[in-house]
Amino acid sequence: MKKVHVPTGEPAGRIVCHQCGNSKHFVEIAENVLMTTHYQQNSDGSFTPEDHTTEIFGEVKFLCGKCGADMTRFHAHFLEMSF
Ligand SMILES: [Zn+2]
Repeated sequence: MKKVHVPTGEPAGRIVCHQCGNSKHFVEIAENVLMTTHYQQNSDGSFTPEDHTTEIFGEVKFLCGKCGADMTRFHAHFLEMSF
């Protein structure tokens, strides 16, 4: 079972970079991503995307958007808090 690391910031639950104090900009990097998109061809020959799936086979990293510090341990919390 994976333990979710809850950040201790002000206000409670906000992620703050431990290196530069940034709490606004974050980057998520996914390795080895397979993107599949289904298209429908229309009568005029143009295509309309119908559905797409993204599968991640590699590692997912979560970094500070300012200094690039590795904050992957907060990634589970980030997923819970992104709407
Ligand atoms: Zn930082």
